[in-house]
Amino acid sequence: MKTLVLTQREIPALLPMPDMIEAMSRAFHALAAGDAQLPLRSVQPLTGERGWFAVMPAQLAGDFGLKAIAVVPANEGGPHDSHPGAVLLFDPATGRLIGIMDASAITALRTAAVSGLATRLLARADASTLALLGAGTQARTHLEAMAAVRPLREVRVWSRRPATLEAFAAWAAGRWPLTLAPSARDAVDGAEIVCTVTSARTPVLEGAWLAPGAHVNAVGASLRATRELDGEAVRRARVFVDRAESALAESGDLLMARDEGAWDGTMTELAALVTGAAPGRTDEREITLFKSLGLAIEDLAAARALHERAQATGAGTWIDFGGFRT
Ligand code: NDP
Repeated sequence: MKTLVLTQREIPALLPMPDMIEAMSRAFHALAAGDAQLPLRSVQPLTGERGWFAVMPAQLAGDFGLKAIAVVPANEGGPHDSHPGAVLLFDPATGRLIGIMDASAITALRTAAVSGLATRLLARADASTLALLGAGTQARTHLEAMAAVRPLREVRVWSRRPATLEAFAAWAAGRWPLTLAPSARDAVDGAEIVCTVTSARTPVLEGAWLAPGAHVNAVGASLRATRELDGEAVRRARVFVDRAESALAESGDLLMARDEGAWDGTMTELAALVTGAAPGRTDEREITLFKSLGLAIEDLAAARALHERAQATGAGTWIDFGGFRT
């Protein structure tokens, strides 16, 4: 078998958001069944404080692979994505490398798809008002994911810099009922779904702003030392996470809330929610919080689904890469 190369441009069209959400659902079912191995990711700070280099290996349902990415917040507002790199997929039978895929596209899509899955399971059935805090790459895919699981009547977006907000508005024009909010608080006021998708290191969302019954996807802060939520947002919510082990090692949002006495450590894993082993929302006024850190099995499941789709459609570039006896 040749090796598939999939570029950033090719990936979104090959696996539309609803299909990506189903791929993520299958991945979390496999995780729940114990059919996965995923060590905590290795994250090295880059010299000169430019960002981080992360390596995320995993096995899932017989597959194995990894993502290698840089995280470069300074790329914001410029021509380069904040999460460049590659996802590598291996052939389970021979061990050969069979897929090399753009990590910016996969990261943007799979993260939002997992938030979409959590929102499908946790947001009120009638939720139709979305607030996005942040207007970069993840904001775009999160809007697509939220629209895939709830009928959105109103979308409010806030970002610090007018240029980021304007670029987002130009991208969304004519597709969604969009309001540019003058402040994060204005965006969140009365919203039924809130997604925090910023590179902020200190809170952009205050719990006092949240309406009863809101569902929050907290996506941006992925390190022990960074947070997007204040302690009150965590204190008022029932907490769901992609993985407890990751949350306890990597989530500043939760761990700083715990340090402040605002969180007692109670959390439900998405895998238990997906299978129905754990309950979701228990009443219409409960605030639910999904803390996303991003797991290597998500990249692997996306890569497998993309590989299958490319095989079926002939998409991508297929090369004689290597791994043969010479
Ligand atoms: P982008 O660079 O595309 O966008 C960053 C956004 O964050 C912009 O809206 C920017 O606003 C805003 N921002 C940056 N600094 C601050 C700040 N100090 N306070 C408030 N807003 C700020 O990044 P992405 O959309 O790709 O990623 C967003 C976040 O999500 C990042 O933290 C990233 O690491 C995280 N992430 C999490 C994943 C997961 O699995 N949980 C996966 C991938 C990313 P402006 O330009 O207006 O300043």
